[in-house]
Order: sequence, then structure tokens, then C-alpha cells
Amino acid sequence: MSTFTGVMKEFPSLSIDRFDNENLRSTVFLLSHCHADHMMGLDNPNGIPGPLYLSPISSVIVKKQYPNIKELVVLKENEPTPIKYSDVDGVTRFVTVTTVAAFHCPGSVMFLLEQENVKVLYTGDFRLSKRHMEKIKRLKNLVGSIDTIYIDSTFLSTDYLNFPGQIRSATTICKIINEWIGKSPKHVISLKMPARYGYEMLYIEIGKRLKVKIHINESEMEKYRYIPELDNVFTTVPSKSPIHACFDYYNKNGRSLTCNPDIDPALIRVIKPTAMLWRQWQESSDIVKLDENKNVRVCYSNHSSMSEIRDFLLYLKPKNVELNVLPQNELQRRTMLDALSEIVNEIQSTNINRQAPIHVSSWDNLSKLSKLNMTRYSRRRDEGEHSTLCPPKRKKL
Ligand SMILES: [Zn+2]
Ligand SMILES: [Zn+2]
Repeated sequence: MSTFTGVMKEFPSLSIDRFDNENLRSTVFLLSHCHADHMMGLDNPNGIPGPLYLSPISSVIVKKQYPNIKELVVLKENEPTPIKYSDVDGVTRFVTVTTVAAFHCPGSVMFLLEQENVKVLYTGDFRLSKRHMEKIKRLKNLVGSIDTIYIDSTFLSTDYLNFPGQIRSATTICKIINEWIGKSPKHVISLKMPARYGYEMLYIEIGKRLKVKIHINESEMEKYRYIPELDNVFTTVPSKSPIHACFDYYNKNGRSLTCNPDIDPALIRVIKPTAMLWRQWQESSDIVKLDENKNVRVCYSNHSSMSEIRDFLLYLKPKNVELNVLPQNELQRRTMLDALSEIVNEIQSTNINRQAPIHVSSWDNLSKLSKLNMTRYSRRRDEGEHSTLCPPKRKKL
């Protein structure tokens, strides 16, 4: 879960992914994607004091969910757009903003902000493999030239060095679904996601591969209805699908269906795609485990693993690194910063021509962070497993 407070030191009157408290002093706003921990403050009935720049898909969602936000400006992917804003000293300035796909959820983007001699990349939440990032032209052009990267550090931990690719996880999940629903027309799947949002890419893959719509509740459908990528992925008619993602957080183990409580639990196979529970996962490890309730856990992550974060930083070689997700627990925070420090050393050792040493300003934020009122980051159902502030206890699978 993002702990980024909204303002980057390079652009103090711009706010990204936070729209409350001191951010209301900003004059321009940017939204990387539509997950709850990146939208705090958008529900303010008075709106925000400036335009909100976002991707086409995010704009559809915000328009629907927050009609109080009056001025939405859509940024086309990979198209540098000059944005005029008023600086803290009242001076009018321009910054060029370019979005780069973040492969986290539909419409998720990174923001590249360029101004005279300043170049900053804000990743939002992202999942990119080495192979994938090297194919993105815009990133290739940035190698060695970025001043600061504000990075999604959700899994910056040696516990989460590797995750299987999302395609591998999706293939496995589709295979399990197919085998189960193929047993009889009465067999059904219950997809039990650890968070309300963040699994849209997986839903799309399931819909595309199995050509079966997934049942979701009407309230969820409201949010997805206007996203073209999710057309024909869902249904709100329970009888039309053997695959159910109709959430009920009080139905803890998912052993019954909210939409059809009479169904025999023996006919329900529960699949739980998770990342948090897969510490020390390696390429040769299995990605499926049965838990004590015979629920199927599959390793799936829409955030980059530590190796992917390392590859990303090693590839782009920024001068500064800021972490967007810092754990509340001090020991975990120090472990995360140690992991970053190792990566930074590696960048420095491969970059003999660099004049100035790489600076990790998150170190400076350690003392500041401990003073923050952490209750506002308390775990919410919407954010599920992405909260590193309240990490789950280790559980035996
Ligand atoms: Zn997210
Ligand atoms: Zn259902």
C-alpha cells in the first residue's frame, strides 16, 4: 500500500496519487491508477483545487466514481504533454509529463516529469520484467538520465526476490478452473481475491482464455462497466457463470457462494491468488499449494518482485531513489532500505563514470515517517494484501 504523501521535492506544487491534507495546496494533480490507496481525498465533496491528469481508462472510472472532480485531463500514452502550473512562489511554470504503461491494472501508468534540467520518474504501482522493460522505447531513452525515481517498493524485500510472471500464474489458474468446471455442469469456482481491486488483468486473462464470463456483484460491475478492456469479462447474472468473484468478505474461507448459498460446498473449488504468502519463491518452485481448507493458493503478483525492482533501477541508473511504499514496522523498514542500499551499491559499481554518488533519500525519511500518524494508513479491505504496514503473520500453508 502506497505511503507516498503526494508531493515530490522536485515539484512542490504538484500532487500525485494523494488529494488530501497539505496536497490541497497544490495547483495540479496526477493520478497513476484507480486503486483506493492512490485516490485518498478524491471523495472530497469540494473536489480538488486544480485539474487532474490521468490515463483514458482512469478518467472513465474517476468520472463515474467521483463526479465531484470537475476538471479531468486525459493524457495519451507516451505523448509528452506540457502542463502549466503555478509554483509555490506564485510563478507560472511548465512541466512536460509523459505516461508510460505500468502493467499493474487497466489504465495504470508511470509519470515521467521533465523540466529544464530535472527529470523524474514516478512509477505508481508497477509490474515489469527485465525483458519487458527493455522493449519500452521511452524507458530506453531515459537510461542514465533520470534524477529521481519514485518507485513502487511493495515487494522490495529479500523475502520476495522472485515471482512467476503474470502469464504463468494466469495459465495455471485457467488450467485449474478448466479441470474443475469440466467435471460437471454443477462444479463451480470461487475466486477469492485478497483485495477488492488489483486483479483486473487476471480477470481479463481468464475471460479471454476460457471464454466464460465471471460473476461479480452489481456494485463491482458499476466500476468496471465503462472500461473497454473489461467488456465481456463479467456478468451480474449468477446462473450464467461457473466462475464467481462475487465478493463477500464475511464469507472467510469462500466455502459458499454469496449468490447461491444452497450450492453443495463439495462442488466449490476456491482459488486464492496471492503474493504475500510466497516468501522465497524460486523459478523452480511450484506456484500452487493447497491450504488447510483445501483451497488452492496460486502465486500471483501485480507488483514487481525485488529482482524486477533491482533490474529496473540497474537498467535506468537514476541519481536518486525514493520509495513509495515504506512499512510501518521499523525492522521491516530497515530491511527494505538495506535491500535498496545493496541495489544502489550495485548501480554505483556498474557506473564508473558517474560524478555524484547515488542518493537514497528514503533514509532521510525514516525519522519523519515514524512521526506520521499511521492510523490513516490502517489496513482497509480495498487494499488487501498490498498493505505492508500491517503485514500478515507467517502462516503455514
Ligand atoms: Zn495499485
Ligand atoms: Zn456469484
